[in-house]
Amino acid sequence: MSTAESVAPRHAAPTVAAPAHAVTGPAPVPARAPLPPLAPRVRTVGGSPVRDILAVTARPEVINFAGGLPAPELFDRDGIAAAFQDALARTPAQALQYSTTEGEPTLRAALAARVTTRGLPTTPDEQLVTTGSQQALSLLATALLEPGDTVLVENPCYLAALQVFGLAGARVVAVPGDEDGVDPVALEEAIRRERPKLLYLVPTFQNPTGRTMPAQRRTALAAVAAREGVWIVEDDPYGELRYDGEHVPWIASLPGAEDRTVLLGSFSKVMAPGLRLGWLRAPAELRRACAVAKQAADLHTPTLNQLAAARYLDVLDTHVERVRAVYGERRDAMLADLPAALPAGSRWSRPEGGMFLWVRLPETYDTLALLPRAVEQHVAYVPGAPFYADAPEPSTLRLCFVTQTPEEIVEGLRRLGRALRD
Ligand code: PMP
Repeated sequence: MSTAESVAPRHAAPTVAAPAHAVTGPAPVPARAPLPPLAPRVRTVGGSPVRDILAVTARPEVINFAGGLPAPELFDRDGIAAAFQDALARTPAQALQYSTTEGEPTLRAALAARVTTRGLPTTPDEQLVTTGSQQALSLLATALLEPGDTVLVENPCYLAALQVFGLAGARVVAVPGDEDGVDPVALEEAIRRERPKLLYLVPTFQNPTGRTMPAQRRTALAAVAAREGVWIVEDDPYGELRYDGEHVPWIASLPGAEDRTVLLGSFSKVMAPGLRLGWLRAPAELRRACAVAKQAADLHTPTLNQLAAARYLDVLDTHVERVRAVYGERRDAMLADLPAALPAGSRWSRPEGGMFLWVRLPETYDTLALLPRAVEQHVAYVPGAPFYADAPEPSTLRLCFVTQTPEEIVEGLRRLGRALRD
């Protein structure tokens, strides 16, 4: 990574050209001001080499299992358009006006009812509407993290959460776990050793592994959190996308964790990510600190989007049911063809919901090194390494199973098989 010192000279202004050039030679290069030195935190959180390779996957001939994109053909264009039109027709002055930082009252009320119905009694005031749940993570980092503070995470962990914690200057420490998520004994040891500020979890249909923490494990973690006095961030953008198995309660609703858990939700995966709508449920003092951070970040989430979403919530369940049926078929299509595509000795998760599936190839494989070969075959995945907060497992990769049709999934896996065999 370049330092500010090595960046500055490349951007330094050339001296002004000699007057003779103005008459006979080429036009003088316009002077460019040197870049101010970048803040150390952005210098240490690098861009990703994977990003550059995956940039080509936007080409139509590439079957892209890499992006975490909801299927665009399932967006309820007409329903969402009607909700926007309704918001504009009925309340134009409100819809186009500045709003409160905490969020539009109608949306907060509808959200609170939704969260309450799903097992966690919540009042409208207990929530802060955010510009996607990604913003909720940033707000929490601003409100809680000092450089050098420790955040405990799962291994592997949602990539952009690692980025947020890194930008805040936090030390990120991975807690060992198994197929069911973070191990409670290892967690207790890590808390005693590291004295963390936060524990960050995606307990349901995790990004990147697709795994779900069973109820018993959640209860055990809640007990550890209570005993050790640690705060949990429970990030749940995928929970409504369940295709089979039993509903599992939020950690935020369990005894011991209920007064020390921040719950994050999002409309990105169930409505449309372009709306940039999420929410955060937290105790009053922390919520107020997040609201101050949000004021500084963007004043408020777009009013029109909030009002339209509040209206759309009336029909959201019907829409989610449709999406679940289609995504479930796509997951099954991927699971059916993985054995033929992957080399002998590979293992993979069998998610009960969400968007992702996690593959572990035999140990001799390096998925980062193999990615260009896959892209040559016009198929893409995300190598697993960047998702690890500590020593990565180079033979892992993430596949998104919701964006393509079953036919495309079959063809994509055929290509992946070729790339891995070549
Ligand atoms: N958390 C997790 C675990 C995610 O996978 C994502 C999106 N990929 C987000 C948060 C951010 O979602 P959004 O900002 O679109 O709500």
